[in-house]
Amino acid sequence: MQYQCPKCQSRKILPVASASEPAVRPVVPKSLVFLIPSLFILLLLVIISIAMWIFGNGAGQTLQIATVIIFIISAIAGVLFWRDLPDFKISMQSFMQANKEWKCRDCNHQWKI
Ligand SMILES: [Zn+2]
Repeated sequence: MQYQCPKCQSRKILPVASASEPAVRPVVPKSLVFLIPSLFILLLLVIISIAMWIFGNGAGQTLQIATVIIFIISAIAGVLFWRDLPDFKISMQSFMQANKEWKCRDCNHQWKI
């Protein structure tokens, strides 16, 4: 199994879903589904807080509470994802191995294994 383009040796390759033999999609853990949006919201709240500290008289209390709550949610989701990570890795690896068609993002070369 090679994880690089046979033409330009780039590692930026994408799996291509084939209609004839579709590979089993990796099981995405629910914790990851939670983790990504909560991290985005957390980042947004932190940016708003910093902007308010710079341009105003500091972040409002509601914003501070919201930031703390989202931080706690992110932390819990992070811990849950950490526990799901081994299963997710196995699921991802079997998906990579089962997938037969690949496409290169650098040179658009498409090949079959
Ligand atoms: Zn390539």
